[in-house]
Amino acid sequence: MMKNNRVYSVLFNKCPRCGQGDFFVTKSAYSFKFDQMNKSCPHCGENLVPEPGFYQGALYMSYAFYVVFMLIYFFVFIHFFEPYLDYFLYSIIPVLIFLTPLFYRMARRAWLAIFISPASEEVAGKR
Ligand SMILES: [Zn+2]
Repeated sequence: MMKNNRVYSVLFNKCPRCGQGDFFVTKSAYSFKFDQMNKSCPHCGENLVPEPGFYQGALYMSYAFYVVFMLIYFFVFIHFFEPYLDYFLYSIIPVLIFLTPLFYRMARRAWLAIFISPASEEVAGKR
């Protein structure tokens, strides 16, 4: 499988440069250390924190994730549960709370992946 691409690294907690090293310290978003990042990639050494405040921009990514998710959730909901539309708002709150650590991590990875392009497989292996 081609592991060295942006979508893979964003979804599977990998460095956007090599696609091998972990981005966050823990694999799971549902751990007490869910927000602890590696400062540099444990595999290729890529700097994962380019400058102070860099990840403030990740806010826009997480906003986009929430909007897309809510739209999908809404259309699925009205498709199956249209007579119970009142429950849309009641149900989306716990769902969004549950997704918060996941989106927090995905937003940071997606934000960094905008600025770092994946290295080719051979380059990533040699470094
Ligand atoms: Zn790396």
